[in-house]
This record gives sequence, structure tokens and C-alpha cells, in this order.
Amino acid sequence: MNRVAIDQDRCKACRLCIGACRFELLALGKDLNAKGYHPVEVLDASKCVACAQCATLCPEGAIAVYRGVK
Ligand code: SF4
Ligand code: SF4
Repeated sequence: MNRVAIDQDRCKACRLCIGACRFELLALGKDLNAKGYHPVEVLDASKCVACAQCATLCPEGAIAVYRGVK
């Protein structure tokens, strides 16, 4: 399965990654991070195709995508 890892404390909730995911797999979460933002969460990792569009667009470098992890 593919995996999207989001560094919660780096996220500034700009939403660029949310718009980048054509499968709408990302959304802002409810919890606050150390900077006072609601960081992004992965809604359904099982549908991720590891295209890495979200990671490419993130200006904070907060997203890492792993293909085919067990
Ligand atoms: S890697 Fe692609 S499919 Fe997976 S969450 Fe990011 S944009 Fe969506
Ligand atoms: S693009 Fe990066 S900083 Fe912006 S909401 Fe997504 S994870 Fe957070």
C-alpha cells in the first residue's frame, strides 16, 4: 500500500495539497499543531496512487509519499 506521511508541525494549512489531489484524499484536520494551524490529514490512504502531486506542491516540505510500503 502507498503511504502519505505529513509532518504535522510543519504544515501551515495553506491547502495547496488538498487542491492537488485529484482523488480528494486530503483534508484539514481538527487538531491544532504547534504553530496554531489545523494540519492536513489523509482521509483514505488505500486510494492513494503515490503520484506525489501533494508533496511536490507543498511549500513547507511537509509531505513525503512512499510507494508500495507494507
Ligand atoms: S500522492 Fe497523489 S493520490 Fe496520494 S494523496 Fe498525494 S496527490 Fe493524492
Ligand atoms: S501544502 Fe503543505 S503546508 Fe499546505 S496544507 Fe498541505 S501539507 Fe500543509
